[in-house]
Amino acid sequence: MSLKKYKEKRDFRVSPEPSGKATAKAASERDLLYVIQKHRASQLHYDFRLEFNGVLLSWAVPKGPSLDPTVKRLAMQVEDHPVDYASFEGVIPEGEYGGGTVMVWDNGQWIPESVDVAAALQKGDLKFTLLGKKLRGSWVLVRTRGFGSKADKSWLLIKHRDKYSSQKDIVAEEPRSVLSSRLLADIARENGGDVEKASTGDPARASNRGMKPKFAKKPGGKKRSSS
Ligand code: MN
Repeated sequence: MSLKKYKEKRDFRVSPEPSGKATAKAASERDLLYVIQKHRASQLHYDFRLEFNGVLLSWAVPKGPSLDPTVKRLAMQVEDHPVDYASFEGVIPEGEYGGGTVMVWDNGQWIPESVDVAAALQKGDLKFTLLGKKLRGSWVLVRTRGFGSKADKSWLLIKHRDKYSSQKDIVAEEPRSVLSSRLLADIARENGGDVEKASTGDPARASNRGMKPKFAKKPGGKKRSSS
């Protein structure tokens, strides 16, 4: 596990993403981080990340997680990310790798259910418990047969049946950031991103549901500036 691929793909003079220089506290000294970042890049997807051995193991889940145990969501394993990426929310400039808007959609801790995580990853069957703000309870990532060059990168993310499994469409019903309560369009607007493109990742009329009326577009209104 290393950040070599992560660094090769990015130009940190242009992108605001973490460069991976910061050294994380040893995981044994604290809980393991879990984060899902909703990312409106060339395609909308949800980046599912679990901290392990000083990096964030990462999978891109096109449809996002499902709380329904009968639903299997494709999860393509991507390059490991630095641990400080877990709090990144903002805009990656267009033309850069992953250009688009990033939201911290869920976060918290994870607890491996497999005693030997490295062996479970090798085997392609990792069971774990999520202690997130949106996702809770028992889940599994299982490697599946992929295609061509992605043959060993295809996994399925599946909810185990427990008191947290349900029919609720969590990605549609809880579209906002757990860090800032913003929608993708809000994050784009406040960080010089492409608001129109970002808004295609938000549910239709999400901003009209009354939770945050201050985000509604006003003709000639000033840009919100928050720090
Ligand atoms: Mn991504």
